[in-house]
Amino acid sequence: MSLNHTAAPPPALSYELYPPRNAEARARAVDVVAELEASGPDYVSVTYNGTPERRRASIELIGHLIEHTRLRPLAHLTCVGETRDSLDRLVNHLVALGVRGVLALRGDQPEGTDPDHPAAYGELPFARYLVELIREVEDRRSASLGAGRLAIGVAAYPTRHPESPSFRHDVEVLLAKERAGANFAITQIYFDAADYTGLVEAARTAGVTIPIVPGIMPVNNERRLLRLCELSGLAPDEGLRARLADAATDAERHRIGVDHAAGLAQAAFDAGAPGLHLYTFNDARGPLDVVRALGLTGAGITDARDGADYGDVHALV
Ligand code: FAD
Repeated sequence: MSLNHTAAPPPALSYELYPPRNAEARARAVDVVAELEASGPDYVSVTYNGTPERRRASIELIGHLIEHTRLRPLAHLTCVGETRDSLDRLVNHLVALGVRGVLALRGDQPEGTDPDHPAAYGELPFARYLVELIREVEDRRSASLGAGRLAIGVAAYPTRHPESPSFRHDVEVLLAKERAGANFAITQIYFDAADYTGLVEAARTAGVTIPIVPGIMPVNNERRLLRLCELSGLAPDEGLRARLADAATDAERHRIGVDHAAGLAQAAFDAGAPGLHLYTFNDARGPLDVVRALGLTGAGITDARDGADYGDVHALV
């Protein structure tokens, strides 16, 4: 059964990178970008959070993608702790750089802030308001410049978001983000294929129509699995954890992570997933092995940055 509405074209391929922390990591990130580019992804997303230096590093990495590669960037943007003015300026800055796709997120609150105190969230308490703000900014720009529409992605959660009262509530939030102007969603990592199909089914029943792209990460050691779960508020998959813990060599652990991720991706494709978003942690080897295992190549690079067809995920960003 196909649960997604846009199943006809081959799945779109994308990767997530985070900004490098220092000069050495910057040089490594440039190599990783080159390796990923060779696999022909449709777009590459860059995370955004932390200190002003980290945020600047995100924008620098986006600048690198635009100036030195043929990759289309998807810039993550968070509204937590921001003002409408600062976000307005940032969106305009990204557009001026050449960004045409934004992942609109609330972001995690800085440690120590009181979640019951609304001021902690800044002027826009939820991602949905950021989507609205981006549409307002682009409407103003279009009036003066005739610029095209941005592709706006949002987060979706196959298992309940840690702050949410229920999975059903998360689905309603996703619908609200679509109604605010989002074009597509990328999921949080998940470990069980049924979590993705369950989300898509519940979302379609609720009236969500945008493509929902599975976000998957090949996890190649137990420590990383636990850290990932801690960061995203997920319960670790005990089967995967045990297999990684029991493996004797790095090569075996690598293979376990790749096989698990490729299995999740294949199950999502079988259910009609319109794309695959691979979390890389700035390490190309696992994600590229998943792509090879699936026999997948992206079509985005040949579409070029200004490909005008907005009909499927390939051309969205
Ligand atoms: P929202 O959609 O605003 O939801 C946040 C919470 O508020 C949820 O519990 C939701 O149920 C609840 N909620 C929403 N609207 C309402 C309402 N009207 N009333 C009551 N409750 C409501 N974080 C970063 O800091 N930087 C990144 O680059 C980054 N990249 C990410 C990429 C992906 C693909 C994903 C899935 C997550 C990413 N995150 C990132 C993490 C994300 O910022 C956190 O999960 C954050 O806690 C929620 O963000 P959101 O955009 O889903 O927020």
